[in-house]
Amino acid sequence: MKPNYYTCILSLVCLATGTNYAQSVTKTTHTIYLGEEKVWVDIYERSGADITLLNLHDNENTSAEAGRGFVESHGGRLIELRHGRGREVVVRLDGVLHRFDPNRMFSDVGLRASLEYFHNNTDEVFAIAAAFRDSVLDLFAVQEEMVVISLHNNTPDKMTINDFRPGEWYGEDTRGVSINPQQDPDNFFVVTQYELFNTLSSSGYNVALRAKYPPDRGMLIDYCERLGVLYVTVETEHGKLAEQDEMLEALWKILTEKGNGITYD
Ligand SMILES: [Zn+2]
Repeated sequence: MKPNYYTCILSLVCLATGTNYAQSVTKTTHTIYLGEEKVWVDIYERSGADITLLNLHDNENTSAEAGRGFVESHGGRLIELRHGRGREVVVRLDGVLHRFDPNRMFSDVGLRASLEYFHNNTDEVFAIAAAFRDSVLDLFAVQEEMVVISLHNNTPDKMTINDFRPGEWYGEDTRGVSINPQQDPDNFFVVTQYELFNTLSSSGYNVALRAKYPPDRGMLIDYCERLGVLYVTVETEHGKLAEQDEMLEALWKILTEKGNGITYD
């Protein structure tokens, strides 16, 4: 049977299985269908930090490991998308794969552009991808005053802090950039809050400050900013777990330090 928009929305199934994890971290897995394709959303939780971490790109496994480590150490919640298709999420219809970037799905404009980029922009594929986005947002349940940390990994020198300089790839998305030549350019933060930008910069990290009104690319960072969420990207090269752990620890220390003007209760 050919899946269509309506059957796909109706077939969104959540299978919740709670299992115990070391140090009382609980793991719950939800299954979301995109046509004939399945994506598993794993949620790791432990009481403690009031922070949500996300691993949107399935092939960025160092990020997932760093996120799990953070939840084990400090508590909080990690949301990890799994599907085995690599970086992009797939809508599968009649065996044909239609890709889109899950970090471009947080606005209709961004999602359409991402489907277009992969030559998949039909109304049917868009509707299924948008329903997937809405299901992820239901699980994410983002609200004002949350702290969200998005974890990413990159290929050496393919995307670096240098891409955030004026005139470069993300130049028009950015209102400030601080580059420490002593640091690996593949390892950097992206933030929405000026005070946090300053603190990370003076601590010697590579950091970019997101523009107030960047182009609508459907990115999670802008979705969170619109909702009044304190948002941070922590990005390192693939495989650099120690570096990503260290950056997360430094961020945790800053977030929990009183009196620096950075909001975290
Ligand atoms: Zn990524």
